[in-house]
Amino acid sequence: MSKVYVIGIGPGEEAYMTQAAKDGIEASNIIIGYKTYINLIEPLIKDKEVIDSGMKKEIERCNLAIDLAEEGKVVSLVSSGDPGIYGMAGALLEVKGQRNSQVQVEVIPGITAVSAAAASLGAPLMHDFAIISLSDLLTDWEVIKKRIHMAGDGDFVIGLYNPKSKGRVTQIEEAREILLKYRKKETPVGIVKNAKREGEEVVITTLDKMLEHNIDMLTVVIIGNSNTYIENGKMITPRGYKL
Ligand code: SAH
Repeated sequence: MSKVYVIGIGPGEEAYMTQAAKDGIEASNIIIGYKTYINLIEPLIKDKEVIDSGMKKEIERCNLAIDLAEEGKVVSLVSSGDPGIYGMAGALLEVKGQRNSQVQVEVIPGITAVSAAAASLGAPLMHDFAIISLSDLLTDWEVIKKRIHMAGDGDFVIGLYNPKSKGRVTQIEEAREILLKYRKKETPVGIVKNAKREGEEVVITTLDKMLEHNIDMLTVVIIGNSNTYIENGKMITPRGYKL
Protein backbone atom coordinates (compact mmCIF):
# COMPACT_ATOMS: atom_id res chain seq x y z
CA MET A 1 0.00 0.00 0.00
CA SER A 2 1.22 3.48 -0.76
CA LYS A 3 2.74 5.14 2.24
CA VAL A 4 5.25 7.74 3.38
CA TYR A 5 7.46 7.00 6.35
CA VAL A 6 9.06 10.07 7.93
CA ILE A 7 12.07 8.51 9.53
CA GLY A 8 14.25 9.90 12.30
CA ILE A 9 17.67 8.33 11.89
CA GLY A 10 19.07 9.75 15.14
CA PRO A 11 22.57 11.28 15.20
CA GLY A 12 23.79 9.01 12.39
CA GLU A 13 25.40 5.89 13.77
CA GLU A 14 23.46 2.71 13.28
CA ALA A 15 23.67 1.77 16.96
CA TYR A 16 21.63 4.86 17.79
CA MET A 17 18.92 4.18 15.24
CA THR A 18 15.68 2.42 16.24
CA GLN A 19 14.63 -0.92 14.80
CA ALA A 20 11.43 0.80 13.62
CA ALA A 21 13.54 3.24 11.56
CA LYS A 22 15.48 0.37 10.01
CA ASP A 23 12.25 -1.54 9.29
CA GLY A 24 10.73 1.55 7.64
CA ILE A 25 13.74 1.93 5.36
CA GLU A 26 13.65 -1.80 4.60
CA ALA A 27 9.95 -1.63 3.68
CA SER A 28 10.46 1.32 1.29
CA ASN A 29 11.00 1.35 -2.46
CA ILE A 30 12.42 4.86 -2.52
CA ILE A 31 14.50 6.88 -0.04
CA ILE A 32 14.41 10.68 -0.16
CA GLY A 33 16.68 12.93 1.84
CA TYR A 34 19.55 15.31 2.12
CA LYS A 35 22.81 13.76 0.92
CA THR A 36 24.63 13.96 4.25
CA TYR A 37 21.90 11.91 5.96
CA ILE A 38 21.65 9.44 3.10
CA ASN A 39 25.41 8.86 3.39
CA LEU A 40 25.05 8.15 7.10
CA ILE A 41 22.66 5.28 6.42
CA GLU A 42 24.28 4.01 3.22
CA PRO A 43 24.71 0.41 4.47
CA LEU A 44 20.96 0.12 5.14
CA ILE A 45 19.88 1.39 1.75
CA LYS A 46 21.39 -1.38 -0.36
CA ASP A 47 20.01 -1.18 -3.91
CA LYS A 48 16.98 1.00 -3.24
CA GLU A 49 16.27 4.04 -5.37
CA VAL A 50 17.67 7.14 -3.69
CA ILE A 51 16.59 10.70 -4.40
CA ASP A 52 19.08 13.11 -2.93
CA SER A 53 17.79 16.64 -2.49
CA GLY A 54 19.41 19.92 -1.55
CA MET A 55 19.06 21.44 1.89
CA LYS A 56 16.67 24.26 1.01
CA LYS A 57 14.10 22.17 -0.84
CA GLU A 58 12.02 20.81 2.02
CA ILE A 59 8.62 21.52 0.46
CA GLU A 60 9.64 20.09 -2.92
CA ARG A 61 10.86 16.99 -1.13
CA CYS A 62 7.49 16.59 0.63
CA ASN A 63 5.54 17.06 -2.61
CA LEU A 64 7.72 14.49 -4.33
CA ALA A 65 7.24 11.97 -1.51
CA ILE A 66 3.45 12.38 -1.75
CA ASP A 67 3.50 12.18 -5.58
CA LEU A 68 5.41 8.89 -5.43
CA ALA A 69 3.19 7.45 -2.70
CA GLU A 70 0.09 8.38 -4.71
CA GLU A 71 1.61 6.39 -7.59
CA GLY A 72 1.69 3.38 -5.27
CA LYS A 73 5.25 3.50 -3.95
CA VAL A 74 6.40 3.16 -0.35
CA VAL A 75 8.66 6.13 0.36
CA SER A 76 10.99 6.97 3.25
CA LEU A 77 11.70 10.63 3.90
CA VAL A 78 14.73 10.69 6.17
CA SER A 79 15.55 13.37 8.74
CA SER A 80 18.45 13.53 11.17
CA GLY A 81 17.66 13.18 14.86
CA ASP A 82 13.91 13.25 15.43
CA PRO A 83 11.84 14.21 12.36
CA GLY A 84 9.31 15.98 14.59
CA ILE A 85 11.95 18.36 16.02
CA TYR A 86 12.97 20.93 13.39
CA GLY A 87 12.65 18.03 10.93
CA MET A 88 10.44 16.93 8.04
CA ALA A 89 7.39 15.55 9.87
CA GLY A 90 5.52 18.86 10.17
CA ALA A 91 6.21 19.97 6.60
CA LEU A 92 5.03 16.62 5.21
CA LEU A 93 1.78 16.67 7.17
CA GLU A 94 1.17 20.31 6.23
CA VAL A 95 1.69 19.58 2.53
CA LYS A 96 -0.49 16.45 2.72
CA GLY A 97 -3.28 18.50 4.33
CA GLN A 98 -3.00 21.29 1.80
CA ARG A 99 -3.15 18.80 -1.09
CA ASN A 100 -5.96 16.89 0.58
CA SER A 101 -3.97 13.74 -0.14
CA GLN A 102 -5.11 10.40 1.27
CA VAL A 103 -1.67 8.78 1.46
CA GLN A 104 -0.81 7.09 4.72
CA VAL A 105 1.91 8.78 6.78
CA GLU A 106 3.88 7.22 9.63
CA VAL A 107 6.31 9.28 11.69
CA ILE A 108 9.12 7.29 13.29
CA PRO A 109 10.91 9.10 16.13
CA GLY A 110 14.66 9.29 16.57
CA ILE A 111 17.17 10.38 19.19
CA THR A 112 17.29 14.16 18.92
CA ALA A 113 20.54 16.17 19.11
CA VAL A 114 19.93 17.57 22.58
CA SER A 115 19.36 14.10 23.98
CA ALA A 116 22.48 12.67 22.33
CA ALA A 117 24.56 15.66 23.49
CA ALA A 118 23.19 15.48 27.03
CA ALA A 119 24.29 11.86 27.33
CA SER A 120 27.84 12.80 26.32
CA LEU A 121 27.90 15.71 28.80
CA GLY A 122 26.50 13.78 31.77
CA ALA A 123 22.96 14.62 32.87
CA PRO A 124 22.20 18.29 32.15
CA LEU A 125 18.52 17.83 31.20
CA MET A 126 17.38 16.31 34.49
CA HIS A 127 15.02 19.20 35.15
CA ASP A 128 12.66 21.26 32.99
CA PHE A 129 14.29 22.40 29.78
CA ALA A 130 13.49 24.36 26.65
CA ILE A 131 14.95 23.93 23.20
CA ILE A 132 15.29 26.97 20.99
CA SER A 133 16.53 27.16 17.41
CA LEU A 134 18.61 30.26 16.72
CA SER A 135 17.87 30.06 12.99
CA ASP A 136 15.88 33.09 11.88
CA LEU A 137 15.24 31.79 8.36
CA LEU A 138 11.64 30.82 9.16
CA THR A 139 11.12 32.62 12.50
CA ASP A 140 11.56 36.33 13.25
CA TRP A 141 14.59 37.07 15.40
CA GLU A 142 12.38 39.19 17.71
CA VAL A 143 10.28 36.09 18.49
CA ILE A 144 13.38 34.00 19.13
CA LYS A 145 14.83 36.67 21.45
CA LYS A 146 11.59 36.82 23.41
CA ARG A 147 11.69 33.04 23.91
CA ILE A 148 15.31 33.22 25.10
CA HIS A 149 14.25 35.86 27.64
CA MET A 150 11.33 33.73 28.82
CA ALA A 151 13.39 30.53 29.12
CA GLY A 152 16.07 32.51 30.96
CA ASP A 153 13.54 34.04 33.34
CA GLY A 154 11.87 30.66 33.91
CA ASP A 155 15.23 29.12 34.88
CA PHE A 156 14.87 26.41 32.23
CA VAL A 157 17.94 24.49 31.12
CA ILE A 158 18.25 25.61 27.48
CA GLY A 159 19.31 23.61 24.43
CA LEU A 160 20.22 25.73 21.41
CA TYR A 161 19.86 24.19 17.93
CA ASN A 162 21.24 25.84 14.78
CA PRO A 163 23.44 28.02 17.00
CA LYS A 164 25.72 29.54 14.37
CA SER A 165 26.45 29.22 10.66
CA LYS A 166 29.01 30.82 8.36
CA GLY A 167 26.64 33.63 7.48
CA ARG A 168 24.85 33.88 10.81
CA VAL A 169 27.20 34.59 13.68
CA THR A 170 25.64 37.27 15.91
CA GLN A 171 22.64 35.30 17.24
CA ILE A 172 24.67 33.16 19.61
CA GLU A 173 26.38 36.30 20.95
CA GLU A 174 23.03 38.00 21.54
CA ALA A 175 21.56 34.85 23.12
CA ARG A 176 24.47 34.76 25.59
CA GLU A 177 24.01 38.48 26.40
CA ILE A 178 20.31 37.92 27.12
CA LEU A 179 20.96 34.90 29.33
CA LEU A 180 23.58 36.80 31.34
CA LYS A 181 20.69 38.98 32.56
CA TYR A 182 19.17 35.92 34.25
CA ARG A 183 22.13 33.60 34.97
CA LYS A 184 25.52 33.93 36.66
CA LYS A 185 28.53 34.06 34.36
CA GLU A 186 29.80 30.82 35.98
CA THR A 187 26.71 28.92 34.75
CA PRO A 188 27.89 25.65 33.16
CA VAL A 189 27.56 25.38 29.40
CA GLY A 190 28.05 22.19 27.35
CA ILE A 191 28.99 22.43 23.69
CA VAL A 192 28.78 19.20 21.70
CA LYS A 193 29.69 18.86 18.05
CA ASN A 194 28.68 15.69 16.18
CA ALA A 195 27.07 14.17 19.27
CA LYS A 196 27.05 10.36 19.18
CA ARG A 197 28.58 10.07 15.75
CA GLU A 198 32.04 10.11 14.18
CA GLY A 199 34.04 13.23 15.05
CA GLU A 200 32.29 13.94 18.34
CA GLU A 201 33.75 16.87 20.32
CA VAL A 202 32.57 17.64 23.84
CA VAL A 203 33.40 20.86 25.69
CA ILE A 204 32.26 21.92 29.14
CA THR A 205 32.68 25.62 29.82
CA THR A 206 30.74 28.55 31.31
CA LEU A 207 28.33 31.19 30.06
CA ASP A 208 31.19 33.68 30.46
CA LYS A 209 33.65 31.76 28.27
CA MET A 210 31.40 29.87 25.85
CA LEU A 211 32.20 32.04 22.83
CA GLU A 212 35.90 31.13 23.09
CA HIS A 213 35.01 27.67 21.75
CA ASN A 214 34.11 26.43 18.30
CA ILE A 215 30.34 26.57 17.71
CA ASP A 216 28.84 25.78 14.30
CA MET A 217 25.85 24.14 12.60
CA LEU A 218 26.94 20.65 13.65
CA THR A 219 26.88 21.75 17.28
CA VAL A 220 24.27 21.88 19.98
CA VAL A 221 24.76 24.12 23.04
CA ILE A 222 23.26 23.30 26.45
CA ILE A 223 23.09 26.07 29.05
CA GLY A 224 22.53 24.97 32.64
CA ASN A 225 19.92 26.32 35.04
CA SER A 226 20.78 28.04 38.34
CA ASN A 227 21.46 24.64 40.00
CA THR A 228 23.50 22.95 37.29
CA TYR A 229 27.06 22.05 38.32
CA ILE A 230 30.16 20.29 37.04
CA GLU A 231 31.63 17.29 38.83
CA ASN A 232 34.40 15.01 37.57
CA GLY A 233 34.05 16.42 34.09
CA LYS A 234 30.30 15.82 33.92
CA MET A 235 27.54 18.42 33.69
CA ILE A 236 24.73 17.68 36.15
CA THR A 237 21.38 19.36 36.77
CA PRO A 238 20.02 18.09 40.08
CA ARG A 239 16.56 16.58 40.04
CA GLY A 240 16.01 17.60 43.64
CA TYR A 241 16.69 14.35 45.48
CA LYS A 242 17.80 14.62 49.12
CA LEU A 243 21.17 12.83 49.15
N1 SAH B 1 15.81 16.97 13.61
C1 SAH B 1 17.14 17.24 14.19
C2 SAH B 1 17.44 18.72 14.30
C3 SAH B 1 17.57 19.45 12.97
S1 SAH B 1 18.03 21.14 13.17
C4 SAH B 1 17.22 16.55 15.57
O1 SAH B 1 16.19 16.13 16.11
O2 SAH B 1 18.35 16.44 16.10
C5 SAH B 1 19.78 21.01 12.87
C6 SAH B 1 20.57 21.32 14.13
O3 SAH B 1 20.51 20.21 15.01
C7 SAH B 1 22.06 21.54 13.93
O4 SAH B 1 22.35 22.88 13.54
C8 SAH B 1 22.61 21.26 15.31
O5 SAH B 1 22.39 22.35 16.17
C9 SAH B 1 21.70 20.13 15.76
N2 SAH B 1 22.27 18.77 15.56
C10 SAH B 1 21.76 17.78 14.81
N3 SAH B 1 22.49 16.65 14.96
C11 SAH B 1 23.48 16.93 15.83
C12 SAH B 1 24.56 16.17 16.40
N4 SAH B 1 24.72 14.88 16.13
N5 SAH B 1 25.40 16.80 17.27
C13 SAH B 1 25.22 18.10 17.58
N6 SAH B 1 24.22 18.86 17.08
C14 SAH B 1 23.37 18.29 16.21
